[in-house]
Amino acid sequence: MSFKAVRADKTDAGQDVRFVAMEESELMDGDVTVRVSHSTVNYKDGLALSGKSAVIRRFPMVLGIDLAGVVETSSHPGFAPGDEVLLDGFGLSETHFGGYAERARVKGDWLVKLPAGLSRAESMAIGTAGYTAMLCVMALERHGLTPAAGPALVTGAAGGVGSTAVSLLAGKGWKVIASTGRAAEAGYLKSLGAAEIIDRATLSAPGKPLGKELWAAAVDSVGSTTLANALAQTRYGGAVAACGLAGGMDLPASVAPFILRNVALLGVDSVQCPMPTRLEAWRRLAADLDRGKLAAITQTIPFDDVFEAGRKILKGEIRGRVVVTIG
Ligand code: NDP
Repeated sequence: MSFKAVRADKTDAGQDVRFVAMEESELMDGDVTVRVSHSTVNYKDGLALSGKSAVIRRFPMVLGIDLAGVVETSSHPGFAPGDEVLLDGFGLSETHFGGYAERARVKGDWLVKLPAGLSRAESMAIGTAGYTAMLCVMALERHGLTPAAGPALVTGAAGGVGSTAVSLLAGKGWKVIASTGRAAEAGYLKSLGAAEIIDRATLSAPGKPLGKELWAAAVDSVGSTTLANALAQTRYGGAVAACGLAGGMDLPASVAPFILRNVALLGVDSVQCPMPTRLEAWRRLAADLDRGKLAAITQTIPFDDVFEAGRKILKGEIRGRVVVTIG
């Protein structure tokens, strides 16, 4: 039986990304076949949907870096038909067919069983963006930081990673300083637990190698001068968890915060994150993330609207998270 998918094909002019009908026989190798019910739109999905980015590393490619669904068939010992599962990253939409399809065939070693207490839709409301926010919080904690150390900065606060990071940090008792370019979202960010809102323009202009010590920790999804300024204004012994590049891939920083203030820059990758850390992140998300706040940051769209959501996320016009209903 054929199923609906968003597929990117290589053309002479570049990439052709559109809805197609596919057959199960076209799916890539894997030991588990999943009936996909939900996916989401992350910034990286927006890039892939644009048909102009280097996210996709093999053609044809089914897009969607996240999926949630129900196992249909499995030869993997860890999964049986009927199991509810989720999958983030591990090369989906880059080297392996992803979640914008009613069927997926993947490696069981990449799958996470849906944590107790989370619905499939909620797991995609979290998605790669929210799970990455949790990885950032865990990285800061591993560095020994607690709310007693001082405030936590979140950049790109009204975005997917940002909104989840604000909710998680505030829920753990941190005083959260939310940096946003959308002044109109101040009420939204305060409802998630932000104590203070700052204009992202204060961080995006080139700054001094060292500034006033304003926060002890930071979750940065913006990169570039914003990350440089976040580092320059981190308190002695603090740390910045860097996971994104919404403002740019570069890092025009100096070593001053590292060598004069013992500040640490913690890199966070979600795609190849080892399974034990991944499982711990999902366990923590299921336990710690306030469901009311998760609902407040989430909008749900039909599969047909995924291209429009992709365009919006690249323009910074998506607030929080988007769940896509697939099957
Ligand atoms: P979103 O678009 O939802 O959020 C990004 C936010 O960044 C925007 O909402 C906006 O926040 C801010 N922003 C956008 N453009 C600029 C700019 N030019 N200058 C300053 N701020 C800007 O995306 P996601 O939350 O899904 O992803 C955020 C970033 O994290 C992306 O770069 C993504 O690729 C990366 N990422 C990395 C992962 C990893 O494994 N390392 C995993 C997941 C995401 P506001 O309106 O509040 O200013």
